[in-house]
Amino acid sequence: MADGYASDSDYFASYADPGVHRLMIQDHTRTDAYRRAIENVAHGKRILDVGTGTGILSMFAARAGAAHVDAVDSSAIIDVARDIAEDNGLADRITFHRGRVEELALDGDYDLIVSEWMGFFGLAELMFESVIDARDRYMRPTGHMLPRHLRLCVAPVDDSHVHQDLGLGLWERPVYGLDFSRLLEAEVQSFITAACDLKPASLLGPEVDVLDLDLDHATADDFFFTTAATMIVERDGTLHGFGGWFEVDLVPNVSLSCSPMLPPTHWRQSFFPVRPFPVLENDRIRLAMNAERTEIGDQRLPLYFVDGEVIREGTVVHRFFYRHHGSFE
Ligand code: SAH
Repeated sequence: MADGYASDSDYFASYADPGVHRLMIQDHTRTDAYRRAIENVAHGKRILDVGTGTGILSMFAARAGAAHVDAVDSSAIIDVARDIAEDNGLADRITFHRGRVEELALDGDYDLIVSEWMGFFGLAELMFESVIDARDRYMRPTGHMLPRHLRLCVAPVDDSHVHQDLGLGLWERPVYGLDFSRLLEAEVQSFITAACDLKPASLLGPEVDVLDLDLDHATADDFFFTTAATMIVERDGTLHGFGGWFEVDLVPNVSLSCSPMLPPTHWRQSFFPVRPFPVLENDRIRLAMNAERTEIGDQRLPLYFVDGEVIREGTVVHRFFYRHHGSFE
């Protein structure tokens, strides 16, 4: 990663757009959780803000009494951030550095590394690699990451609206009088995960954690998880796929979650479709899931393998195996 990905100039150009930063800052669940967390811990600390964007997290930290903040971004937005800090009388406490954090030579020895690096389903964009690299080079042994902990959650979903919105329902009815149902399996087979808005009632059962990482210590490879979990179906319905989301503990007492049970965020939830299958209360879904690096398409998007079986009264009644591409939305 230290050398960057082929498409990185596009990646950083996309963050030069103020509209992208507006979408993030307008996400009150996100931005206010960071504000509260930073205000809890920033006082007197030497802080590194990886991917400062408009500088908002650095300004929260400076305003809360940080000893000093180094703010880094490789996108042109940082040139505006510098002026915004000036406008707010905070310029003397924040030093802005334009460049990839991997390529800069900073003074190091930070008490706290703050970053809002999460993409869709947490992992998209792979920005965690840059943040982990910065931690290994610059965080003092007693320091902490903010966020400090990451969980990825997956739950079985029955939601015909999401299924129809993705267009998959088309293949289930005659198309110009022809049977196209075979294309449903084919389309789901290489699906690009999609953002969706699940309702609490869409869940067929409770979520399971597919990844649980202590960000003060995790390696970048730890994010490419392999996991096996058993889910319990709590009502009769149709399994349309799996909903995924992330939760982070920013500091021990302030969390940010994209659960469909909680107020919405701009990340929404991610959907991993399957060919619809009828399930019954008390069925078990055995799910093996993994996230891998890929050379296919955009290298900043992981590939997800979703492999499972539905077990009814001890007997396997259905098997599935899908490969889904990550997505920027
Ligand atoms: N912290 C801001 C912006 C978050 S968006 C906020 O919370 O609103 C993530 C930012 O990280 C983008 O501006 C992007 O350009 C920057 N970024 C991503 N990878 C980076 C890297 N390796 N080095 C420097 N900046 C990076």
